[in-house]
Amino acid sequence: MDETQQTTDVLVIGAGMAGLIAAAELQRAGHRVLVLDKGRGVGGRLASRRIDGATFDHGAQFITARDPRFAALLEQCRQTGAAEEWCLGFAGGADGHARWRGKPAMSAVAKHLALGLDLHLEMPVVALRRADDCWRAETTTGRTFTTGAVVLTPPVPQSLAMLDAGGIVLAPEMRTRLAAIEYARCLAVMAVLDGPSRIPPPGGLAPADGPIAWIADNALKGISAEPAVTIHATHAFSLKHWERDRQESGRALLDAAAPWLGAGIRTFQVHGWRYSKPMQVDEEPCVVVSQSPPLVLAGDAFAGPRVEGAALSGWAAAEAILTK
Ligand SMILES: Cc1cc2nc3c(=O)[nH]c(=O)nc-3n(C[C@H](O)[C@H](O)[C@H](O)COP(=O)(O)OP(=O)(O)OC[C@H]3O[C@@H](n4cnc5c(N)ncnc54)[C@H](O)[C@@H]3O)c2cc1C
Repeated sequence: MDETQQTTDVLVIGAGMAGLIAAAELQRAGHRVLVLDKGRGVGGRLASRRIDGATFDHGAQFITARDPRFAALLEQCRQTGAAEEWCLGFAGGADGHARWRGKPAMSAVAKHLALGLDLHLEMPVVALRRADDCWRAETTTGRTFTTGAVVLTPPVPQSLAMLDAGGIVLAPEMRTRLAAIEYARCLAVMAVLDGPSRIPPPGGLAPADGPIAWIADNALKGISAEPAVTIHATHAFSLKHWERDRQESGRALLDAAAPWLGAGIRTFQVHGWRYSKPMQVDEEPCVVVSQSPPLVLAGDAFAGPRVEGAALSGWAAAEAILTK
């Protein structure tokens, strides 16, 4: 057998919320499913990191559920110990709706959803090509995957780049519609403090103005044994500082956060989310680029710019393939 080539019924590209949901649903329906992700772990923007004994959620901060199906999934995550309710809102804006956190941290939700799936990590797809009545995905590692159907879940500009590289031409109207989806950028600072922060319980707030969109205390949140603060910069600040020195931008954000820190900074890291949240959401929960062989685009740009939206889009993509 050629080790560089593999075939499957359905290839899911991206092991974030949308991809994991779609993959599990298609596998449950009896398909052979493979999931590829370029990252070292699952979860995409459901991301956690450890620094010096401290734990940070540096992507999605909390999960909300409006849809009963998604609420049931969170309940299942609670029962298996992968998630729990964090709070019912934040200082000044408590609205009584549950905000959930992953347990022990956000990536646990993705790890739970990935159980039982056939995953290939560190497998960046560079091109998707049509090959007779199949699709062929090519990766930077030299592996190719031939598949009867594809669910493509990276942020839309990255998915379009893969289609372009493989010479897949979209109908002009669809291309314009997808190319119009833009994402906010977000510089995220993760700072380990030498004492408790001044962020009030339950541990998160969104300042009304300035360069900070959100600041959270991961110890108060209940996920970090050490004092640890996550700061998310606004899109405007992130865009302006994107090409600049990350440590300098991190220091500027820590200066702006001084009123909420109240303790010294032991160390900090900065992560840049080029595609943090879509600024426009498509009118469809997923986009069927091709019926036969099926190729479906999914992700939070299609059913709402949040974790729940990504999940709903993943289910919609699976449904589109199952009912083709
Ligand atoms: C800073 C920040 C704060 C947020 N806060 C919240 C919040 O509080 N609440 C909320 O509900 N939502 C929040 N979100 C949004 C939420 O995280 C996303 O809506 C959701 O996680 C998107 O899931 P997805 O599956 O659509 O995409 P992703 O999670 O981005 O998954 C796509 C996957 O595709 C993979 N991929 C990309 N390109 C390739 C390639 N070439 N080959 C293989 N794999 C590839 C990526 O590695 C990734 O794992 C936040 C996001 C960020 C960044």
